[in-house]
Amino acid sequence: MTQIAQALRLSPLPILESRMLMQHVTGLSRVQLITRDTEVLMQTQLTHWNTLLDRRIHGEPMAYILGQREFYGRMFTVNPSVLIPRPDTEILIDAVLQDHAEQEQKRLRVLDLGTGSGAIAVTLAAERLIWDVWAVDVSAAALKIAQENVDTHAPTVQLLHSDWFSALTEPSASFDIIVSNPPYIAADDAHLAEGDLRFEPRGALSDEADGLRHYRHIIANAPSFLNDGGRIYLEHGFEQ
Ligand code: GLN
Repeated sequence: MTQIAQALRLSPLPILESRMLMQHVTGLSRVQLITRDTEVLMQTQLTHWNTLLDRRIHGEPMAYILGQREFYGRMFTVNPSVLIPRPDTEILIDAVLQDHAEQEQKRLRVLDLGTGSGAIAVTLAAERLIWDVWAVDVSAAALKIAQENVDTHAPTVQLLHSDWFSALTEPSASFDIIVSNPPYIAADDAHLAEGDLRFEPRGALSDEADGLRHYRHIIANAPSFLNDGGRIYLEHGFEQ
């Protein structure tokens, strides 16, 4: 018989991670985990707990184990077909919102290239309900996750299966804002073999070249898809 408190005490993980996994296993809230910590885990819960501990000990990111990660105050569904949303990318959101603070009431058209979980597109659409937000990804598996996040937080976002601009064929496909957090890690970067990155989709991390390949493509093609005065916002590596 294992009580919640005992299981937590014996866990080799940082206490915060242990608590998050225990909440996931028991369905208890953070407060309940404290007030009901003498409760005995059911056998199925104990097995589940041990499986999750094992996955985490082997380095699997918390976000994939829990199936979710918070971004800009909203909870996003994630799985290993999408990059885990990063706090760094919230800076891109702030930049776009601040630059267009005076145009809050204008129906601006926004395009997110390589949307992954949909974090950027969904956040912009949810922060500016009047904006017309489109998002594309080359990965069908990623689009499934993006659709879930769209349905939850910003049902007006339009998702398209597209290799960058390739599916945007209508002459009307022009935008005021193009945003992207493309794969920008160089093929030979040692970080790809470290930490969370080992578990993330390689195609969302690396351009399999010098890191700048997708920027060249996006920047070369963007003028045909930008309205007058339109802007591009790109996340990039700190040495790029
Ligand atoms: N910012 C991510 C990292 O360094 C990389 C994301 C990307 O390639 N777009 O872990």
